[in-house]
Parts: sequence; C-alpha cells; structure tokens
Amino acid sequence: MGTETNAREGKYRGRFAPSPTGPLHFGSLVAAVGSFLEARTRGGDWLVRMDDLDPPRVAPGAADDILRTLEACGMGWDGRVVYQSARSGAYHSALHRLRERGLVYPCACSRREIADSALAGVEGPVYPGTCRGGLPPGKRARALRVDTRGAAIAFDDALQGRVAHELEKAFGDFVLLRADDVYAYQLAVVVDDAEQGITDIVRGADLLGSTPRQVYLQQLLGLPQPRYAHLPVAVNAAGEKLSKQTHAAPIDPGNPLPALLATLSFLGQQPPRELSRSTAGEFWAWAMGNWRLDRVPRLVSATVATGA
Ligand code: GLU
Repeated sequence: MGTETNAREGKYRGRFAPSPTGPLHFGSLVAAVGSFLEARTRGGDWLVRMDDLDPPRVAPGAADDILRTLEACGMGWDGRVVYQSARSGAYHSALHRLRERGLVYPCACSRREIADSALAGVEGPVYPGTCRGGLPPGKRARALRVDTRGAAIAFDDALQGRVAHELEKAFGDFVLLRADDVYAYQLAVVVDDAEQGITDIVRGADLLGSTPRQVYLQQLLGLPQPRYAHLPVAVNAAGEKLSKQTHAAPIDPGNPLPALLATLSFLGQQPPRELSRSTAGEFWAWAMGNWRLDRVPRLVSATVATGA
C-alpha cells in the first residue's frame, strides 16, 4: 500500500484509530483532533482505521456513529476506512514470519497463574516466561507470546521525551495471539501502520507503554518506525480516563463546536472567545492557522471538567 513510496517522498501520513466500543467522546476527540491538525497543518494525509479486532468490546453501530460524528465535526479523512476485523490474513502472515524465526512460543498459563507468579511491571503483572522452554506436561497452548529477552527499546516522543525500556523486565513476553484466538492489538497496529504507510502517530499517552512493544515488533518484522507524539489523556476529577466505562458524554454531532473548542484548549492552544460563536468552517480556519504541537502540555494526563 505504498509504504516505500511514502517513505521516499517523505509525505506525512497520520491516522486516527478508534476502538468502536461506543460513540466518540471527549477523550477520543482529543486524539482525533490532535492527529488531524498535526497531519493537515503539515500538508499530510489523515487516515481513519477502526480497531474493531476485539469482538466482545465492539458495540454494534459504533463505527458508523464515530465516522458520522467525525464528519459532523468537519474532519474528513483520506482514502477508505480500514477495518481491522477484515485483516486477519495480514496479521496471520506477520505472526507466521515471527514463528518461523522461533521468536514466538505457545503459552499455557491462565491469568490467575500469571498473577500468582508475576513481578510488577510498567502496566501490571509481568509474565515471567514460564512456557518459554516448552509447555508443561499435560497443558494446552492458550496464547502465543513473543520472546522479549535482550530487547532494549528506546524512542524519542515529540511530547513525552525519551522513553526507554528493557521489555522483558518492563512488560514481559507479550501476547500476539490471544487465548480466544483474537490477534493482539500490539501486532495488528504494527502491521496496519506499516501497510498504510503511516509516518507519524499522534495518540493518547495511555498508549505510551504500548509503543516500546510496537517498536520491538517493527524491528523484528523489518518495518519502518513511525515518529510518535503522545498527547495528554483526558481524565475526570477522580483521575479516571474519560471512556465509555467512566460514562464520558458522547459528542453531539448536531452541535460539535463546544467540544471542538474544549479540545483545542485542552491541547494547549488558545482559541479566542469569539470562536464560540463561529461556524465549523471558521473554527477549522483558526485551528489550521494556529495549531502548534509544541504548545500541547507535556503531560501524560490532564483533568477536564465533567460535561466536556
Ligand atoms: N484503538 C486504540 C484506542 O482507541 C488506539 C490505537 C492507536 O492509536 O494505536 O485506544
């Protein structure tokens, strides 16, 4: 899908990759607006991809609803929307390449067993590599994991600075194919970003811990490494990420301007008061003329007033 061509031409290609678990809310709008403005102000493409790989989490109708809301916000995307649910073949062949090189192994451990034997890592219990040397007798493979021994990964994030981890200690050998036969987000995102020729990833800092795992997979698969900028995540007064689970209010497609303005302010831009009486066209004209990534707070999270 033109990865090499884009790399050669150096054309910016960004993307927004929502999980269609519910309607677009303020938390996801932050990633949408940040990635959109960064792409458009650099004369780049902006793609939308639906991360609908996890059947139990996908809400019926949510993908269409998100797309309609983006349109209502005046955020048009380039090309066709890619649905991860239709891309198992690509994930299968990437996994196959890693298996052939002996980098992946079956694991029989249950969540409980891992929790009982794990040390704490960056994002919770770290799998201690129990099944690396083979499955214990009588046990069946549940998931496939990638070997992270010796992997030291570092990258420079445009907002969060240098991020460096020893993967084995920080995250452990992570899952590429889940026990329920679903390809893991870490694998799918890497395969898709490469195939779509994504040069720059602007997304929420809740994914900052995922990025070293993704960079590792890019290296193993010989894929180009995009540049990264992780935006602060919107949290409520209780410090919880705004999400469907914390009942974040959906964006009103009939009147998206207040949410768009709140998003710009959240991202450290200073939209003038008069903009609250503007049309969508005037809003985007101002935003395009004034967007500066370097004004975005260099925080992993920031509080927003409820009702945003
Ligand atoms: N689907 C992920 C989310 O909504 C984002 C994936 C990404 O940007 O890499 O949290």
